[in-house]
Amino acid sequence: MRNAARKQSPFRQLEFLFEAPVISQLPSAQELQNRAQSLLRRLNARILTNRVRVEWNERMRTTVGRADFRRYLISLNPALQEFGPAEIDRTLRHELAHLLAHFRFGKRRIEPHGREWRDACCDLGISGERAGHTLPLVGRSLSRRFVYCCQNCQGHFPRVRRIRRATACLACCRKFSGGNYDERFRLRLVKSSSQVISPPF
Ligand SMILES: [Zn+2]
Ligand SMILES: [Zn+2]
Repeated sequence: MRNAARKQSPFRQLEFLFEAPVISQLPSAQELQNRAQSLLRRLNARILTNRVRVEWNERMRTTVGRADFRRYLISLNPALQEFGPAEIDRTLRHELAHLLAHFRFGKRRIEPHGREWRDACCDLGISGERAGHTLPLVGRSLSRRFVYCCQNCQGHFPRVRRIRRATACLACCRKFSGGNYDERFRLRLVKSSSQVISPPF
């Protein structure tokens, strides 16, 4: 028991160090793609499993997620970061369900959020998922006024509120500064405008 706890502790400690001045980077597209593939692997959808790709799309403004059937591509809005890992995961599965339903019933005309899609949601572990999402994003518009950027990795960090204290990119601090706060990776404000987010399609 104690050994297990000790194994996790180096990361714990790092998070603790960073609690104040550093915010975490988005999970990488590759990470999410791997997750999508492992979800599909048990579902007898080999071609889709091999081809599915995931991207963070900085240009997305009005939707949180999108599924492109022809390119087997799921695009996610980096603004999702604000809502944490659970919502990122859920949006990933929502869009993956679109690809899966289309993969299964391709030629036939199916409703975007019809029975085939709901079945796919079920298979992907989000039974009861709804077209409009019950995300905090839905039903109200969200004003994301501030976007910060790491000059080093070009990672973007959209925030609802202005960041008050010196804050650096976690990924870069880990990579190049042994996990310590480093001024070189301090987040800079690149945009402060309004942006409205609506439910994924
Ligand atoms: Zn960075
Ligand atoms: Zn949808």
